[in-house]
Amino acid sequence: MTTQSVIEPGRLMRAAQLGIRHVGARRYVVAGSDAPWMVDLDVDPPCYCPDAEYRPQYQGKCKHTLAALLQEHDPPTLWAYATILESRARYAGEVAA
Ligand SMILES: [Zn+2]
Repeated sequence: MTTQSVIEPGRLMRAAQLGIRHVGARRYVVAGSDAPWMVDLDVDPPCYCPDAEYRPQYQGKCKHTLAALLQEHDPPTLWAYATILESRARYAGEVAA
C-alpha cells in the first residue's frame, strides 16, 4: 500500500466518524453500513469491503482503512484530515486566511 493514493475529503470525513475498535497490533474492527469490517494495516489490501475491491481509484484506502490509519496517527492521513478541517473552517470564516 502506498501513501500516495488520492484521499477524497468526503470519504475521509466519513471515516473519522465511524465506530472503531482496536483488536490487535495494527488491526481494527470498523463499523460499516451493513456489517463491521476487519481492517489489518499489515496486509494488502487492508480491507475487503466492496469499495476497497471495486474502486481502483481508492487504491485500497476505503473509509474503513482510513479510519484505521487515523487511529494509527498515520502522517499523510492526519495531514489530509487537518487540511480538510482547516479549509472548512476557513470557508466558514473561523480562520483568517
Ligand atoms: Zn473497507
